[in-house]
Amino acid sequence: MKLSLTSVFPITVETQQAFYGRRRSCSTTNTSVVFCPNHCGRKYKHEGSLRKHLRFECGVEKQFRCVNCGKSFTQKAHLLSHLLNIHKIVPVM
Ligand SMILES: [Zn+2]
Ligand SMILES: [Zn+2]
Repeated sequence: MKLSLTSVFPITVETQQAFYGRRRSCSTTNTSVVFCPNHCGRKYKHEGSLRKHLRFECGVEKQFRCVNCGKSFTQKAHLLSHLLNIHKIVPVM
């Protein structure tokens, strides 16, 4: 019975790509910054942050509306702080 090296350490396509991909990113740009595709000037290091920005901030209809004055907000947290600061209403969650 003989064991080949590949059966002990199987080199998959993924590991090769990960290795060469890492090498390539080191030689060129190691910090990848993603710009907002809507050209609003925002840039993010993490794709998740960009997705959050696109989903809640950029080009999004202001979906949280103050029932007291009609002011609209993109984020619920903004509305809640508005209620607290302007109308002195502590939101009941
Ligand atoms: Zn944007
Ligand atoms: Zn208000």
